[in-house]
Amino acid sequence: MNPPAAHPPRPLQRAIVAIVTVTLALALAGLACTAQRGANTPAADLVVTGGRVWTGVPDAPLAESVAVVGDRIVAVGSADEIGAWRGPKTKVIDARGRLVLPGFNDAHLHFVSGGLQLESVDLRDASGPEEFARRIVARAKTLPAGEWVTGGDWDETRWNPPVFPDAALVDRALAEAGVPDAMVYVSRYDGHLALVNGAVLRLAGVTAKTPAPPGGEILHDASGNPTGILKDAAMGPVDNVFPPLTHERRLRAVRRALEHAASLGVTSVQDMNPSYDDIAVYAELLERGELTTRIHAAPPIGKWKDQALLGMRHSFGGPWLRLGALKGYADGSLGARTAYFFEPFTDDPSSHGLLSDEMQPIAAMRDRIMGADAAGLQVCIHAIGDQGISIVLDLYDEVIRAHGPADRRFRIEHCQHMAAKDFDRFKALGVIASVQPYHAIDDGRWAAGRLDPGRINRTYAFRTFLDKGVRLAIGTDWNVAPLDPMLNVYAAVTRATIDGKNPGGWVPEQKITVAEVVSGYTLGSAYAEFQETVKGTLAPGMLADLVVLSDDIFQIDPARIPETKVVTTIAGGQIVWPR
Ligand SMILES: [Zn+2]
Repeated sequence: MNPPAAHPPRPLQRAIVAIVTVTLALALAGLACTAQRGANTPAADLVVTGGRVWTGVPDAPLAESVAVVGDRIVAVGSADEIGAWRGPKTKVIDARGRLVLPGFNDAHLHFVSGGLQLESVDLRDASGPEEFARRIVARAKTLPAGEWVTGGDWDETRWNPPVFPDAALVDRALAEAGVPDAMVYVSRYDGHLALVNGAVLRLAGVTAKTPAPPGGEILHDASGNPTGILKDAAMGPVDNVFPPLTHERRLRAVRRALEHAASLGVTSVQDMNPSYDDIAVYAELLERGELTTRIHAAPPIGKWKDQALLGMRHSFGGPWLRLGALKGYADGSLGARTAYFFEPFTDDPSSHGLLSDEMQPIAAMRDRIMGADAAGLQVCIHAIGDQGISIVLDLYDEVIRAHGPADRRFRIEHCQHMAAKDFDRFKALGVIASVQPYHAIDDGRWAAGRLDPGRINRTYAFRTFLDKGVRLAIGTDWNVAPLDPMLNVYAAVTRATIDGKNPGGWVPEQKITVAEVVSGYTLGSAYAEFQETVKGTLAPGMLADLVVLSDDIFQIDPARIPETKVVTTIAGGQIVWPR
């Protein structure tokens, strides 16, 4: 089908030729989504056919097939229309009637922490002390010399009897397995207690004579020796000797995170608060051609001048790696009682939360936002309590008045607990609500104890945001919550808390539809990173990022959405899952 060519064009050149051809054809024909293959147009490199393609394009929401040249989509249409794009070398994926969606774009996560968590030991469901020790040993045997066994999330209340684990148990098991020098530092699920082994106690200098620091506790056995259990501030001496993250370990963590993202259909991520060492790893993997998920990195806002000095503006970079955004904190979390509210917590009248260090004083944050905005950088501020959110809106309002209208796409990250008066301000100021639905079904187990019903009804208020015309960007906050988009879609649609106690939904008035959450997770997240012209919908000219799912989440019982698996992930026209 290809006309013979003296020098076969390279994929990028072919993609450009195809896009130009398609764009001209579209302009001439005024077609919405499908595109005819012209006489001189190259054949597709990849065709996904026979699916139920949900495009995200309002005028042409459904199709059967997608044709890709290079890293771009060149046509979307019926199986017959797309058949014309097939050539002798075209790779064809038969979707077998399955649902095809734009790749998921996680608008808020912590990519390196997530990768490190995948590398750490998971003790949450260990059945007892023996299983606990066995998992630690198994992990220790896989680690290079000098790396510690970390992670944990252990919970002794699941054991019978519910006793704390101790260093002697772990050291005995390590010695028997031939890894007596392993270093072990594993946390209880609440983060307030940790178990360290004998080698770590010695390195940190914690002995029978070590006094507990203020705000901390060191547990001792009958003979007065430390058991290895350290509480809160008592972990300080261990943190002081914990080895810094090496480049190699960071690289390994990012590779694990990339693989995990590909396996879940996440083709773009927006990484919050990366260090410059993290970004250096992304850049190295970009150079090696190893990025299989697109990364938009938003370093801490305290460093806004670095990007401004380099002349970067919002969404600076290329399709696989971008900078140009900054992430700040206005307050803390509801769980830690540090989210900042107008009214006190219902179960603690003495407190209405705290503003973050970055907001002490608020003028310091105003200066950073003013500076970043004047430089053309995008600002994303974490705010969870209603007053925290309100103050950030005030600051955004001031900046907009000072600098005049512009396409700045200010974001508030989390926006969990809204004041009734502020929904309309989001819309009026063009502020994006960057939300994480899974947190709702997690916090929903206990949030009602801290907030009165009026505030609860405006909690994770996705329905109200959409009804008020506010743009949602959807993410997970991985590694704080799971990266799996199916759990997140399920959370937004059902609001069924993870303890099973709200099967009809916690604050059910705030449920949104599958189409609304998928749209927020694709087009909404793309808009939040200034990329909606190349990502978030399946249409000619867009980046070829798509996912084939095992089940049609628009049709199945929402309770079954979490069981849905990713069959194929395509990023930039390449199959990145399965590998
Ligand atoms: Zn976060």
